[in-house]
Amino acid sequence: MPILEHDGQVHNPLGGASYVFEEDIVKWLSKQLTKNKVRISIGAQPNSSPHFGTLTVFSLAFALAEKIKSETNKDAEVLFEVIDTAPAESKTIDDVRYQLSLRDTGVADQYLGQYHELLEKLMSLTNVAYIVRKQSDFNKQPTISNILKEVSAKKDALARILDPDNEKLRMRVACQKCGLTDKHSINTVIEPQGIKSFCPEHGWFETSFENSDVFEYNTPLRNLIRAIAYSIDNQNNELEYEWLRVTGSDYAGFYQEQMLYKPASLLGYKAKDLPMIIYAPLITDWSGAKLSKSLYVKQGAYKYLPSYVVNFEHFRNKFGELGIENLFNEVKLWVEQPYRLFRGYSVYYFMDLFNDGK
Ligand SMILES: [Zn+2]
Repeated sequence: MPILEHDGQVHNPLGGASYVFEEDIVKWLSKQLTKNKVRISIGAQPNSSPHFGTLTVFSLAFALAEKIKSETNKDAEVLFEVIDTAPAESKTIDDVRYQLSLRDTGVADQYLGQYHELLEKLMSLTNVAYIVRKQSDFNKQPTISNILKEVSAKKDALARILDPDNEKLRMRVACQKCGLTDKHSINTVIEPQGIKSFCPEHGWFETSFENSDVFEYNTPLRNLIRAIAYSIDNQNNELEYEWLRVTGSDYAGFYQEQMLYKPASLLGYKAKDLPMIIYAPLITDWSGAKLSKSLYVKQGAYKYLPSYVVNFEHFRNKFGELGIENLFNEVKLWVEQPYRLFRGYSVYYFMDLFNDGK
């Protein structure tokens, strides 16, 4: 259902980063990276079949790793951070919102198979190895306890930036008996050595920062803690790899400047030591807004579009493995000719690409 006729011409006008990195980004990247191995981080909440944004972010990570391996003397691999602590269900008890996570409800396991399938396919196309890490493994790292202590020492200043609504630092621990978690950290007390949490069924419980593996965060706080952990790894010469992050463009700009670089600086970490972030172009609907899987699932949005654009299962069923290869080859061009990387794409562009837009 075209909303307007167009001439089919694709323009890539230069500006900002596309002007600077018009023909190359990988050689520039390799000069910034100091170790011989690069670990490219990607993340997703496995709350449904992967959506188009996940497909492009994952493809970009593998395309980038492939090119780093072939054009520099460095090795590269991909690490998928599974955000299995994200909410699957929520309920209100005594006016407080509690959530049950994707992990504790088993929802994560239900969808992880499709993520593995996608990762396997991308590995077979690029010969780039990948690792999958759950939140408890991320939090188990020896650097995390100390980061949590540093965050708790600056909790008020950080909360004002990271949670403009309630000014609460959204750090929490699920009740180990029933899994209920204080979503907005309303009854959670952050202390210098740990936190006190309240379960409406099982009462108060305390968790030391030393037991960091059970901690959970909302997205902005997790983004900050992860970047600091990567930054410490990057400067640790005993670790053979250094981190690079690939994520969606909806996190670029104001979000990272205010929610990551400023808070990291408040904690004493230098912007120059934080991991580089490469943003995948945003895929937009007819109006220029990001194509949202959750609007499609929860509110029946995008009835005018074929469902494969928001659902990996439908995409794979319609176009098969060749479809994934076509999509990957398009994303590969973003790395080959980076003037294609620093821009957005409408969903109609991709429908044309799959010969389905006319
Ligand atoms: Zn409980």
